[in-house]
Amino acid sequence: MIGLVTATASGRRLADRLAASLAPVRSYPVGEIDRAWAECERLVCFLATGATVRLLARRLTDKHTDPGVVCVDEAGRYAVALIGGHAGGANALARRVSAVLGAEPVVTTASDVTGLTALDSLGWPVEGDVAAVTAALLDGRRVTLAADAIWPLPALPVVEVVVAELGAPCLVVTDRLVAPPRPAVVLRPPSLVVGVGASRGAPAAEVLELVRGALAEAGLAEASIRHLATVAAKADEPGIVAAAAELARPLVAQPADALAAVAVPHPSDVVRAAVGTPSVAEAAALLGGNADLVVAKRKSATATVAIARHRPRGRLAVVGLGPGARDLLTPRAAAELRRAGVIVGLDRYVEQIRDLLPPGAQVLVSGIGAEEERARAAVDHARAGRAVALVGSGDAGVYAMASPALELADGSFDVVGVPGVTAALAAAALLGAPLGHDHVAISLSDLHTPWEAIERRVSAAAEGDLVVTFYNPRSRGRDWQLAKALGILAGHRPTTTPVGVVTDASRPGEQVDLTTLADVDPARVGMTTVVVVGSSQTRTVAGRMVTPRGYRWG
Ligand code: SAH
Repeated sequence: MIGLVTATASGRRLADRLAASLAPVRSYPVGEIDRAWAECERLVCFLATGATVRLLARRLTDKHTDPGVVCVDEAGRYAVALIGGHAGGANALARRVSAVLGAEPVVTTASDVTGLTALDSLGWPVEGDVAAVTAALLDGRRVTLAADAIWPLPALPVVEVVVAELGAPCLVVTDRLVAPPRPAVVLRPPSLVVGVGASRGAPAAEVLELVRGALAEAGLAEASIRHLATVAAKADEPGIVAAAAELARPLVAQPADALAAVAVPHPSDVVRAAVGTPSVAEAAALLGGNADLVVAKRKSATATVAIARHRPRGRLAVVGLGPGARDLLTPRAAAELRRAGVIVGLDRYVEQIRDLLPPGAQVLVSGIGAEEERARAAVDHARAGRAVALVGSGDAGVYAMASPALELADGSFDVVGVPGVTAALAAAALLGAPLGHDHVAISLSDLHTPWEAIERRVSAAAEGDLVVTFYNPRSRGRDWQLAKALGILAGHRPTTTPVGVVTDASRPGEQVDLTTLADVDPARVGMTTVVVVGSSQTRTVAGRMVTPRGYRWG
């Protein structure tokens, strides 16, 4: 429950706006702030920070149990994470509140400033002395990092990666039980899958003891368990279900034939006869991954357990940055940039977003023409297990990097696409509503596509009476294609058809011209222009380009 504490009418108005998107919430007048503190996990106080501190000071006990508190000023300009930034969730709440109210989140906890929270965003269990290692990072002291494998981690600032000699303070990424020099932070990657089999009625305590015994003997951390896995027929076996609940991990049920296809060291005919696969525990632990069995099948009276370590998968985020303006870059794109360890992109796009990159990120930029090389670099790093963001302007999948990269990709890493506002949409919004009915995008660049193919498509769009957005309409070496394409369209629609010429949409130097097929001036068209040609139905209304929604006008 989130408590909304208000003292004035303007505070209550802001609280009402929040209530719709933050549910479940409860409202409290400021006089009942003590009750709000007792009843809620988090509070948003529409009060000055000073007033909030005075009201709550005597209630503060422990950062692990106190509610997180965010203060919002009466004008809704700032959302200050005041108390319980991490443990209380106030930092995250300040960001959510800001997104709803259009306020600026104010976050002052140290690890947010150094980028260490990028690690929290992984959602992996963290052990050890976070405060001391964070302080070392803030002081610019040498912090060493050791990892058992290359995990797709976000960039970490001021960290020196070491292989053998770990010195304090340090960060260790491992599923093993270790005793690093202190202060140390140990991050637990979700590498272990525990396969479990059981006879009917196997007690949960027995399953748990078997799991914990296996982990302890192999020197593995419970916190690195990704999930428990069993055969579908045992998905509801109470002892297995309860053990997964006690370990607070999901239970994944696999079909018997999928398990039967996994090669295991200890198959059993008895098990095959009973459940249709010669192995439950070992096969379930190994299934679906590039994995090694680290604990072979072990049995108690009524249960079996095996543990497999799954090797990390890299992550390739293909991120559209939008047409230029920062507020047209989506929050999801910004989050993917923060989460990346390696950023790959065209030099000028990477420059635009450099301030969003985590300190310490490896940045691989190259110039125009090096698309293939960029795609290959991004894929190679993802294949090696790293967290890569491949960026492109507008939408990264529209005449951009997504296809060359994914043409090279295999199934060995995860791919996440983040859509961006493409130039056609940015231009259309400036022009009015030109894309209100069927429309098409055509690139006039004949560098990679023969002109005859482009011309055929322009003719088809002309015959189909589609609104056409021309990308790459003109460059220094390509100066006749646009006139030719417009000529083809003019053969099928009136020369009075509206045409929008938009250059540098949402960037400095933005230009918007609304003209007609007869009057387009190619001299006003450049490398960063899109040309939107209306259909026979498109009209100019009050200086705006409008394509009616229906097939009939009026
Ligand atoms: N991925 C990009 C398109 C890359 S192709 C996107 O989705 O927008 C490059 C062409 O896009 C340019 O030649 C121009 O036609 C168009 N373009 C890109 N950004 C633009 C902007 N801000 N304003 C106008 N046109 C733009």
